[in-house]
Amino acid sequence: MTSSDRRMGLAPRRAPAIRELLDRHGRSFSFEFFPPKTPDGERALFQTIRQLESLRPTFVSVTYGAGGHTAAATVRLTERIATETTLVPLGHLTIVNQSVSDLKRVIGQYAEAGVRNILALRGDPPGNPDGEWIPHPEGLRYAVELVDLLKRLGDFCVGVAAFPRKHPRALTVDDDTRYFVAKCRAGAEFAITQMFFYVEDYLRLRERVARAGCDVPIIPGIMPITSIGQIERFALLSGEEFPRALADRLLAVADQPEAVRAIGIDAATSLCEQLLEEGAPGLHFYTLNRSTATREIYQRLGLAAASPHDATTSVAGTRSGPAR
Ligand SMILES: Cc1cc2nc3c(=O)[nH]c(=O)nc-3n(C[C@H](O)[C@H](O)[C@H](O)COP(=O)(O)OP(=O)(O)OC[C@H]3O[C@@H](n4cnc5c(N)ncnc54)[C@H](O)[C@@H]3O)c2cc1C
Repeated sequence: MTSSDRRMGLAPRRAPAIRELLDRHGRSFSFEFFPPKTPDGERALFQTIRQLESLRPTFVSVTYGAGGHTAAATVRLTERIATETTLVPLGHLTIVNQSVSDLKRVIGQYAEAGVRNILALRGDPPGNPDGEWIPHPEGLRYAVELVDLLKRLGDFCVGVAAFPRKHPRALTVDDDTRYFVAKCRAGAEFAITQMFFYVEDYLRLRERVARAGCDVPIIPGIMPITSIGQIERFALLSGEEFPRALADRLLAVADQPEAVRAIGIDAATSLCEQLLEEGAPGLHFYTLNRSTATREIYQRLGLAAASPHDATTSVAGTRSGPAR
């Protein structure tokens, strides 16, 4: 919110907490974007966000980069979503290269713009996600400490990351589960997973978290594959290997971009259907800043047909519509 907005008496609206939306409606549908590097890119992204607004997602989020420029762009875009659209923003925040007072400043900016939902993340070392993780000398070490800071600072609804096959740095699945549950015990009220391709991976995560006595809703993260380049990008971002069988199907038609896209969208749609049937509390789409693949999947799942004015319209064969 700018000072001129404040002079005109425009107050940020109080956004609903994502956990309340999940509890009330049972399911959320959300989209994730990343901050573009140029003003033109930012304008184009805002147009994409506007196009997706008509789908009435439960919330949208913008990833947080480690550098000063990208972090500022994230906060600016998230503030714009909060103040210029009808969408509920989820602000990402990482602890990479930031002191506790830097973090408090960003949290204050989010709060001032009316951003109530924050995804508390550790973040990866800039430039090389597999590189050594060096904490800021006056900063935090793990995401759990950021959850704790946020809960002490204000009435935030805090989300955290979850990893269907365990976080690549965790030594064992049990360790990873324990650390995940600790984030929830510190106050996290929902989680979003890293992208994955097999429903079993999600179900196993959900089971082990439930066995540990934690019932925080875990929203699956979905990345529709629309180009061969994303196979490499997936490995880079997730630290995991792309599933062999799906890679083989995509690589067999590597010279036909439309066929690659069709296979990727089929695979993502089928995964979404299975997840909803298994009672997943929503779907979070990694859009890569484009709206067409997500729109197509939305359409095929029957979500786009749901009346924007009727939250109980049938969705994928059920009676619960997108939570808002
Ligand atoms: C939905 C989603 C959104 C994301 N958005 C962003 C983004 O906007 N910007 C960005 O840079 N990155 C983002 N990431 C990536 C994320 O920051 C990295 O995967 C990071 O490596 C892990 O973050 P975390 O919050 O899970 O960390 P943590 O929960 O702190 O875990 C990090 C590692 O430490 C281990 N661990 C945790 N607590 C302890 C402890 N007390 N003692 C010992 N070990 C411990 C965990 O098992 C894990 O191996 C996102 C990931 C997801 C799933």
